[in-house]
Amino acid sequence: MNTISFRSSVRQLRDDVAAICLPRGRMVGSPGHQKARQYLAARLEEIGCVPFAGDSFELPYESNGVSFCNLAGVIPGRKRRLAPLLAGAHYDSVIAAPCADDNAAAVAIDLAVGVWAAEQGGLERDLVVAIFDAEEPPYFQTPSMGSERFWHDQRDGRSIHAAVIMDLVGHDVSIHSSMPGAIPHVGGLLGKLPGLGDRDIPIPMLHSLLFVTGTESHPGLHEVLETAGVTDGLKLVPTLNSYIGDMSDHGVFRRNGVPYFFLSCGHWAHYHRPTDTPDRLNYKKMERITRQTGDFLAGLDAQPLKRGGGQERVCDTLELEVECMRRSFGPLWSVLLKRAGLADIESREDMDRMVNSLLKTGL
Ligand SMILES: [Zn+2]
Repeated sequence: MNTISFRSSVRQLRDDVAAICLPRGRMVGSPGHQKARQYLAARLEEIGCVPFAGDSFELPYESNGVSFCNLAGVIPGRKRRLAPLLAGAHYDSVIAAPCADDNAAAVAIDLAVGVWAAEQGGLERDLVVAIFDAEEPPYFQTPSMGSERFWHDQRDGRSIHAAVIMDLVGHDVSIHSSMPGAIPHVGGLLGKLPGLGDRDIPIPMLHSLLFVTGTESHPGLHEVLETAGVTDGLKLVPTLNSYIGDMSDHGVFRRNGVPYFFLSCGHWAHYHRPTDTPDRLNYKKMERITRQTGDFLAGLDAQPLKRGGGQERVCDTLELEVECMRRSFGPLWSVLLKRAGLADIESREDMDRMVNSLLKTGL
């Protein structure tokens, strides 16, 4: 990618985030929610989408007497009768605050992925750019959740070939200050410094991490991940979804046997707080995640993936996880192994122990 298009993609990501990060947020039923919805419908049109269903990008639904609205556009593929790919993110906010990383960043990347597909004249399959409502509490994992309603009531007879879902993908990965000593020599030392307070401790080596779950959801995804490779400037950490649970909109696809990738940079100090603001995002990282998502979608497009039975783990990806972690954590890897009390990772039990230890660092 040349510098000019890199710069303009970063600018567009920044503009989309700014447009929906209203000071009073996008909570379901609020004026900000409606404003964001109108903006996003206009953007879907602008990037070359056609409506997923009927003649509108808006897919309203009612649940428990409350009105909600998913949004979905399609970048048409060359073989429109095939089951479409879906790239998705939720746009509602948990509190009356900007909620930039949760989840305006992912929505902006979702639109950018649509632009990427449109620029190459579409993929083989249709690409559904889905922007879900009601992912946040009190709707999280209830029948009112937008992705649930999309799957059960709004998708069409072609079903979904594969899904890439994003949540919390705008920030640098860091270690939380409440975890002093989480990483010996790093957290331990910083933990002794006065006045750190409640915040993230930046560790540049970790900034560009991107966690990916779902490779274990289909035997074909290992190849998709390997073929896609890693975008320059990013570090991929494929891991099992069961380690973190269905923390976002990928849950309904997983349970229904749709091969999926879930992308996230994990929790951070500003998670679900008024301090989750647009100025704290890393837009260059978001541009890289856009390209990584495009590479995943291109691979998924080409794979004849069969829908599975919805088991948590269809295939074992241990080797891939170890290899990617070793590469992504670099010189920190041996320190992390030591902290987990491991010499190396040779079994799933070893990996369970490693992940437990990593989660304790606040990642
Ligand atoms: Zn959230």
